[in-house]
Amino acid sequence: MKKVSRRALFALALAAVLAVGTLAFCVKYAANAEKWVTFSGSPHVYTGTNLTGGRIYDRSGVRILNTTDGRVYSDDEAVREATVHLLGDRYGYISAPLLGNFAEQMIGYDKITGLNEASKGTASARLTISAEVQKAALQALGSYHGAVGVYNYKTGEILCAVTSPSYDPDNIPDIAGDETGAYDGVYLNRFFDAAYTPGSIFKLVTSAAALEKSASAQTGTHTCTGKTIIGGQEIICMSSHGTLAMPEALAHSCNVYYGELAASLGKDALQAACDKLGFNGTLACDGYTARSTVDLSDADDGSVAWAGIGQYTDQITAVQFLRFMGVIANGGEAAEPYLMQKISRAGQTVYEAETKTTGRLLSEETAKALGDMMRGAVVNQYGAWQFGNLTVCAKSGTAERENGPADAMFAGFVQDEAYPLAFVVFAERGGSGSQTAAPIAAKVLAACKTMLDTPNPNG
Ligand SMILES: [Zn+2]
Repeated sequence: MKKVSRRALFALALAAVLAVGTLAFCVKYAANAEKWVTFSGSPHVYTGTNLTGGRIYDRSGVRILNTTDGRVYSDDEAVREATVHLLGDRYGYISAPLLGNFAEQMIGYDKITGLNEASKGTASARLTISAEVQKAALQALGSYHGAVGVYNYKTGEILCAVTSPSYDPDNIPDIAGDETGAYDGVYLNRFFDAAYTPGSIFKLVTSAAALEKSASAQTGTHTCTGKTIIGGQEIICMSSHGTLAMPEALAHSCNVYYGELAASLGKDALQAACDKLGFNGTLACDGYTARSTVDLSDADDGSVAWAGIGQYTDQITAVQFLRFMGVIANGGEAAEPYLMQKISRAGQTVYEAETKTTGRLLSEETAKALGDMMRGAVVNQYGAWQFGNLTVCAKSGTAERENGPADAMFAGFVQDEAYPLAFVVFAERGGSGSQTAAPIAAKVLAACKTMLDTPNPNG
């Protein structure tokens, strides 16, 4: 008898544990079910590491991916190549967190009916990018590895986020067997994830730091004799630029001027400006996390001078520099860039982007002064003619690298209410920013203008 009651007690205890466990599960289920189902390992909704479910369209309503039955990309090979880094490949080599970031909205998981809810309506997602502009940008980059970005600094819409090299997911080349270097880092999204030594485009950051400290920095001069020694380190210029104020120094990209300006500014002021502008931290953008680093904590005067001309240990991403261009363009405060415009399912809008602001990062005076100097550089140095009737303000950059040509950059914005576009072009081993990267920017901006001028048949 005693034995039986002990058994009964034991059974009761087990039942109690089960009841408590079930309750705990229900509470956790209610809180986390969507996350569990849309967890990136879930075979129901993922192929490789990339989300399956729904149809994906560009900003003009052109379908660029259909995952309702397998993974069907665009019919246009060039569009496939220009968008695969945002959509992900079939095998998970290219990790494209964009769609996964919206898994809950895309899949439509329901706590009561489970995944069956998904069959009630296939999700349609509309991205901010333009397939035509993506195509034009990848073609304009040609054989250069690098990245091109364009975004609307008033709304935050990213029109173009291209990375090169790329490949056609429907006709995969022999990437592993390639020995030419044509596919080096092909799975990397260089727009969000590649950190570049910025070189001369960083002179805009140094200018911003100096102008924020004192507006009179624009008229202060330094004399360039072709080289200078700061803190025991020699900084060399391409030529002897003579006595320059900031507008001419920016247009000629004088290393001596900017080295001396950075050193006189001091590392604390330069660091503070970089921190505020987001160049020493991360930027989250619809699933992507971009990371730039400017760390002057161990820098002496010579190193601060090098940092001020975009060398030393400075490392920036294209998307973060693009955002900075937007901030200058829009008077010191811009929209945060984003990629996902809208998701609808079964006739309902389940997600719609809202414009978020960066907050004020530069004074209006500083932003205007920088913009005017960038316009001057285009007119006097790079050639305004190559941008047609778009009022482009920009800075070229050349970042020296070991063993071979320098990286070429061109960054800026269009000063026009009808085309509020900021842009960046990074062409690895391009040699010269103004000669290689500027014409690429011109082609991409022309494609943006054509796209924005064309009435959209799909609404
Ligand atoms: Zn110089």
